[in-house]
Amino acid sequence: MNSDDLRNELTLLRDLGFTHLDVRQPAAAPSATDNARSADNGQRGEAAVLLADLEAIAVVCEKCKLSKSRTQVVYGVGNPNADLMFIGEAPGRDEDLKGEPFVGRAGQLLTDIIKAMKLTRDDVYIANVIKCRPPENRNPEPDELEACHPYIQRQVEIIQPKVIVTLGRFALQSLTGKAYGISAARGQWLDYSGVKVMPTYHPAYLLRTPSAKKEVWADMKKVIAELEGESGT
Ligand code: URA
Repeated sequence: MNSDDLRNELTLLRDLGFTHLDVRQPAAAPSATDNARSADNGQRGEAAVLLADLEAIAVVCEKCKLSKSRTQVVYGVGNPNADLMFIGEAPGRDEDLKGEPFVGRAGQLLTDIIKAMKLTRDDVYIANVIKCRPPENRNPEPDELEACHPYIQRQVEIIQPKVIVTLGRFALQSLTGKAYGISAARGQWLDYSGVKVMPTYHPAYLLRTPSAKKEVWADMKKVIAELEGESGT
């Protein structure tokens, strides 16, 4: 780990509310991070190792009340070096049970959108702004969004995608920290820490309003052009 990575990790821990570090030698049992490092064996690259380091912190997170009701933390999946990252709102029941984002009905639609872009789920990275399921799929609350924000912020820093697609209002507002309306913002390029952001509708909205699929596809065509370097922006 270089000094920038160390500084970022310490900043994340501070943002997550840690005030003390236990610097004693680790006990004999290897940690999740140690396991990720040895599994990596120099093959997977630095981003994969940094994501695994962060996941080891996230899976035991108790920063907000959602930690009491979750089955498991839904951290994120996909290519640690992805050019394209999809960011949704929060896990639902299927995701909470499986530990993977977007695996229910809305997830199937997202997978279809990714396929229509001539990509696979393994090509991109998929995560949510909230890592634990809100009970009864209620909307995330401000304290939960705030507590979870350092994770998505750090995931973006590690992955360094060329383009982020935010899915729905909560993902857009929580990532950018701005009160954009989704209908006005969708389809317009925004910036998040130097990364191009394309807001679009959430797949769950498309399940209720199939007529909005054409707008989402128009947004995805802009994303494809940007990734292929044809957007002229
Ligand atoms: N909706 C989301 O926003 N995220 C998921 O992972 C599943 C459904």
